[in-house]
Amino acid sequence: MNRLNKIIVLLGPPGSGKGTQAALLSKKLHIPHISTGDLFRENIKNQTVLGNLVKSIIDSGNLVPDNIVTEMLFDYIAKPVCSKGYLLDGFPRTLSQAESLGEFLKGKAELKVCLLDVPDDVIIKRIEGRQTCSTCGNMHNRYYSPSLKPDVCDLCQGVLIQRSDDKKQVVEDRLKIYHEQTKPLIQYYEDKGILHHIDGLLSQEAVFNSLLVSD
Ligand SMILES: [Zn+2]
Repeated sequence: MNRLNKIIVLLGPPGSGKGTQAALLSKKLHIPHISTGDLFRENIKNQTVLGNLVKSIIDSGNLVPDNIVTEMLFDYIAKPVCSKGYLLDGFPRTLSQAESLGEFLKGKAELKVCLLDVPDDVIIKRIEGRQTCSTCGNMHNRYYSPSLKPDVCDLCQGVLIQRSDDKKQVVEDRLKIYHEQTKPLIQYYEDKGILHHIDGLLSQEAVFNSLLVSD
């Protein structure tokens, strides 16, 4: 067992700050940040066998099956750039992916799984409350950093707008899917005793520190 390897799985709902924390951790620990979206894009760009396959699946509007996602990931983590460890963001997404990863790492490396806990009502406010200035791009949040005048940019008096992806119903639907997908994963890693709960309501810096010390 090589304990120098840092293999971190970051779980958390959309709007939990997961992407930001992943980028900070990757920089601090000098390990690559691997998201499945990036893997798809890289394989498609390089026209690998898997990349071509994924492109045809995505183009036909279907979901990429677990076995292809895992194969792509395992190809990548076998590379020298991952020899000191890596951080997984968006993988595993299903129980079957988690089990494949467990098999792949068996006897080789240990996994640390961190779950950013943020209640749904806060996620909804964080995302649904976002407003962007249509003129200068300045951002407000109706709940956490409201503009002085409703729907008017503090900087340039431009009109503040909400992205259609950020509408309440869209956010609620995404959260529902997130919970359905993640519940079995949380149980699986909890049973293995390797799940660390991180309070995602803390400041960005405090969350980062808890991720670092959660060994
Ligand atoms: Zn503005």
